[in-house]
Amino acid sequence: MPIDLHLHTRHSDGTFAPEEVIRRAKSLKMTTISITDHDTVSALPAARRAAGPSTGSGDLEILTGIEMTAVSHDRELHVLGYGFREEDPAMQDYIRQAQERRHGRIHLMIDQLNARGIEVTRAEVEKIAGEGTSIGRPHLAEALLKKGVVNSLNEAFDRYIGDHAPCFVKQAILTTADAARLIRQAGGVAVLAHPYRMVEDDWIPSLAADGIQGIEVYHSDHNPATIRHYLKITQELNLLATGGSDCHGFRKAKGPLIGTVKVPDSCLEELKQTLKGS
Ligand code: AMP
Ligand code: ZN
Ligand code: FE
Ligand code: FE
Repeated sequence: MPIDLHLHTRHSDGTFAPEEVIRRAKSLKMTTISITDHDTVSALPAARRAAGPSTGSGDLEILTGIEMTAVSHDRELHVLGYGFREEDPAMQDYIRQAQERRHGRIHLMIDQLNARGIEVTRAEVEKIAGEGTSIGRPHLAEALLKKGVVNSLNEAFDRYIGDHAPCFVKQAILTTADAARLIRQAGGVAVLAHPYRMVEDDWIPSLAADGIQGIEVYHSDHNPATIRHYLKITQELNLLATGGSDCHGFRKAKGPLIGTVKVPDSCLEELKQTLKGS
């Protein structure tokens, strides 16, 4: 049964409206999806409305999700939260603060670009993102592309705003331990997103000690050897394995990825077991 536990919408840096994600999930006959926008859950009401009431078998189930930016080992990592109470006051508080920081941080990056003689304005970037969107670097990259500063989104990251590029500004307002605590106190499960190229293997035991309960083993950036590698780590450390495509609609060079990553049913079953126990 097709499952995809990592999807973005226009509420962060995906290009699809929540309704479009649901339409595609249904046409792919998916059984469970999770919309995991960056630091927001604002797409969920529209997604649920579009999915319709749950009446039994054959329905599309939507698992509450979020992708939080958090710091560990002096790097920004992504932590996925699943099945938490989205109205949880501490979670809502975090989301509000993260949104403020996202705006402030994009403004700082624009200042840095301007200081290098690159003309790009807040209004241009905010127009691309749209109101109420969890603004991020992909919107800024698109503005740079539109203005002809770069010839591709990748070039924008490589030259200017990627994690190791000169105009990058960190945005995380919490550590991975804080993120795991926040998700878990709201009844959810905390999972390390797409570790490949973002996380050194020897950090993983300390991330587990921080409260991270699983690893996103199946992901569009993970080839079969990578999957085997992380699966082994989950087994050694007794962590959950989860998976999803990380679809950003048309904002990724490979195009819409929804449903393209095979995630075993057992991943969802074990995730749900853990949710029940929490
Ligand atoms: P932000 O949340 O603003 O830090 O932006 C993070 C998002 O930017 C990621 O989820 C990716 O979608 C995208 N991203 C990060 N690094 C790159 C890169 N090198 N090339 C293209 N997209 C990237
Ligand atoms: Zn993204
Ligand atoms: Fe991510
Ligand atoms: Fe993502």
